[in-house]
Amino acid sequence: MQNRIYNFNPGPAALPLPVLEEIQAEFLNFKGSGMSITEISHRSKAFDEVLNDAVARVKRILSLPENYHVLFLQGGASSQFYQVPMNLMGPGDTADYIDTGIWSAKAIKEVNILERSVNVAASSEDRNYCYIPKDIKFNPEAAYVYLVTNNTIKGTQWAEFPETGGVPLVADMSSDILSRALDVSPFGLIYAGAQKNLGPAGVTLVIIRDDMLDRVPDGLPSMVSYKTHVDKNSSYNTPPCFAIYVVQLVVKWLEEKMGGLEGVARVNDQKASLLYDFMDGDEFYRPTADKDSRSRMNVTFRLADEELEPKFVAEALENGLNGLKGHRSVGGCRASIYNAVSLEAVQSLVEFMKEFFRTNG
Ligand code: PMP
Repeated sequence: MQNRIYNFNPGPAALPLPVLEEIQAEFLNFKGSGMSITEISHRSKAFDEVLNDAVARVKRILSLPENYHVLFLQGGASSQFYQVPMNLMGPGDTADYIDTGIWSAKAIKEVNILERSVNVAASSEDRNYCYIPKDIKFNPEAAYVYLVTNNTIKGTQWAEFPETGGVPLVADMSSDILSRALDVSPFGLIYAGAQKNLGPAGVTLVIIRDDMLDRVPDGLPSMVSYKTHVDKNSSYNTPPCFAIYVVQLVVKWLEEKMGGLEGVARVNDQKASLLYDFMDGDEFYRPTADKDSRSRMNVTFRLADEELEPKFVAEALENGLNGLKGHRSVGGCRASIYNAVSLEAVQSLVEFMKEFFRTNG
């Protein structure tokens, strides 16, 4: 495909080419309507089919039991930072939060603003969030245990989830949703902003279990209450139709072209191993996360000579490799290798890294 470059942006991020082509092909005349998906009514049969198919596909790919609901909400993943405690914490409740970086810290901040009780059950701040905490003591009375499954900025990821003694997990999966097989049973609620692994910015996937819905207090503003959105099938107000349509196509691509979650996880493992194994072979590139906590989605690293980093990022771009600069808050380099980033893209990156090492090492 001419003019397309390898895109390692952290989000908004690469989308699968077949999905972009499908959007392009049916953009001007969506399903014979003579209108684009961005012009049709959100109350039309055509959009209903998109929405219901998107919900059905998410349920199917995750093998969600009957007692889970799939919602498409707005306000970004960041709105979930306050929506979760407002819906799931009763008066006098405390929630356990695991602090693994900037996104969990922001979620904790919102609970504090709401003047609810939050217990930071574990934190990896002592070593600049380069690891996932282990052997955590949870409060058996907690309303829920909150964690971020993949830390987009710090490049760490939970390999497996902690045993909480029956307290439901609430997870921000914004940067690793649908990247691997998942047993949803310990999770009371899962959410993910779409703009990494699911589609364009503007929609947030929320998966909520019946017993969490039972906790939702009366008297919340309608848009804040998960009940509103479950009752109205995510159409209480005008939903982000285009974004939901893209999510539908992305999940279809995962199911039909990638072999579902097992299939895509195999490729994701291959991609991540390729990069980490290469970097572990020398001291020139230095992954920032502890080995047992490394993310398979956001590979963060420094160059031994940090002054070479701007040159590395600039020359990578000249070679058709975009988006390798680390988050502005931490510096360094980061390759975001979400589902839609191909093995070939990562092979190309490794080839470039070898060449850069050869000429600058
Ligand atoms: N959580 C995580 C793990 C993220 O990576 C991000 C965005 N990078 C957010 C939350 C915030 O998402 P949004 O911009 O959709 O509010």
